[in-house]
Amino acid sequence: MRVLIFLFLGCALLTAQPVEDTEVARAQMELNRVRALVEAGALARVQLQKAEDAVADAMDGSDIRKSIYLTDLTEEQAMRLVAAANRRFERRKTAFEQAKLQVDAGIAPANVLEELGAQLDYARKDRDLAATRADLARQATAMAEAESAAALQTSGAEHPPEASPVAERYDGNGVFTPEIFARIQTAFDLRFGKLLPVSANGETAVHRALGFDHRGRVDVALRPDQPEGIWLRDYLRAHRVPYFAFNQAVPGKATGAHIHLGPMSPRLVAANGSPHAAVSAGGSQ
Ligand SMILES: [Zn+2]
Repeated sequence: MRVLIFLFLGCALLTAQPVEDTEVARAQMELNRVRALVEAGALARVQLQKAEDAVADAMDGSDIRKSIYLTDLTEEQAMRLVAAANRRFERRKTAFEQAKLQVDAGIAPANVLEELGAQLDYARKDRDLAATRADLARQATAMAEAESAAALQTSGAEHPPEASPVAERYDGNGVFTPEIFARIQTAFDLRFGKLLPVSANGETAVHRALGFDHRGRVDVALRPDQPEGIWLRDYLRAHRVPYFAFNQAVPGKATGAHIHLGPMSPRLVAANGSPHAAVSAGGSQ
């Protein structure tokens, strides 16, 4: 019976492993090989720990590769990414420091540090990028939460939030299309010599999770009162483009301040189960 359970678990693990995780598979095979040699007394036990670390490292690497360049990262995915990147960095830092001790003691050649140093740099960059991505994901979540609260207020929900996160609402002519958005991006670039900081273009996993439809809308990570935000609001009013400006929702929390381009997002399904109509028909993406 026990054998059957193990067989079943083994099959489940095999099928759960994505094909692209060859690095993980390789490290796992190496671990099996080293374990057999250690048990046979042909290898020192310390090699087993190294092989186990290599498997953990490959698994973290696989997780990092899967999510570090996702444009649509949820806060939970971001936290997992940061944890994996931190583990990988600490593991490689330890490996480098241990190798350095051996090199300093003259029991290992100096050139082993080159490869380990490069791996450490790589892990450091991933760790920093992961932290940046997590920070952006937190901000995007705060922005979406501010919009969700505003959508509840305008939808006539039974218990709308008391304090409005909307600093300014401008309905313009009610139309926002990808072409209009492209013109805004160009104008911003010409004025400030940098890209418009877009935090959400269309629907995202966070918006979906909060229950509203962000298709055809764009969030710009600018505070309404900073110079770029003031310029953008002036531009939008001059061109009659609808927008909502949001102040920081909760003082001390990740900032939800931003400018939402387009009409307010309709809720996908209201609390009572019936879909609410869109506030206005804007462009679609
Ligand atoms: Zn928005």
